[in-house]
Amino acid sequence: FHEFAAPVTDTEGHVLGRIYVYRDITKETELDRMKTEFIATVSHELRTPMTSIKGALGLVLGGAAGDLPPEARELLTIARNNTDRLIRLINDILDISRIEAGKMEIRRAPLSPADVVRRAVEEMNAFARQRNITLTTDVPEGLARVMADADRLHQVLDNLISNAIKFSPQGSEVLIRARETGDGVRFDVIDRGPGIPADQTGLIFERFYRVDNAASRKTGGTGLGLTICKAIVEEHGGQIWVESALGEGSTFSFTIPVEPGGHVAEPPIPVGS
Ligand code: ADP
Repeated sequence: FHEFAAPVTDTEGHVLGRIYVYRDITKETELDRMKTEFIATVSHELRTPMTSIKGALGLVLGGAAGDLPPEARELLTIARNNTDRLIRLINDILDISRIEAGKMEIRRAPLSPADVVRRAVEEMNAFARQRNITLTTDVPEGLARVMADADRLHQVLDNLISNAIKFSPQGSEVLIRARETGDGVRFDVIDRGPGIPADQTGLIFERFYRVDNAASRKTGGTGLGLTICKAIVEEHGGQIWVESALGEGSTFSFTIPVEPGGHVAEPPIPVGS
């Protein structure tokens, strides 16, 4: 039940009584649950055939059906790239429906920030090279270990780094940095892209929200990536935010708590240094 109470006062402000409004939301919640379950089921059912199409295309492109004429190779490559896009979209929708159902599982283990960043950068290097972007890291080896789900933390870094690459001008640099803060480790992904208008830096973490500018139209996307990042970071007990200047670039930052007693004896480096 949703309850709402409005005081009724006389002209001098004395409370004479209260009006109570009760609304039965049992049906709505049930409907919400069914909707989430429906979306999860449909996404699952879509993913299986998509994965099989991707596999078949991979085999043909790999030469399983003999040499391909160049035109066929080109068309099949387009088909495979779009299959990849669809699978990414389906995975994002599945993640969102898990988050909304409160069913995102987090398996925490102590992880070295340097290892986590190294793995993410290795995986993103090919994409960065395609766009002539240099990925640079500044992550001290001896940082305290963070308590995190390795795959989920990887997903956050992947998302932020791939956004940074997508929005960066050709030939520029993306910097990935990690520092200890008072209660955890702060990761920064810094780009020299178009930046985000100040009135929208909060909105971009909302579902399906995309800034309406040339850069976003050109890159294509669903507006789900940052929503998923935010849910993952908050599920770990951390925070995520962006600082951005139009025409200069964006810095996406998030914090992850360290393992108990994990901080080194040195004083933490203050935020913003
Ligand atoms: P998508 O990238 O699929 O649109 P996201 O949730 O990852 O979805 O991002 C939402 C929006 O935030 C993007 O459409 C874009 O407008 C903006 N954005 C995200 N990262 C950056 C960035 N590094 N530089 C500029 N704009 C960004």
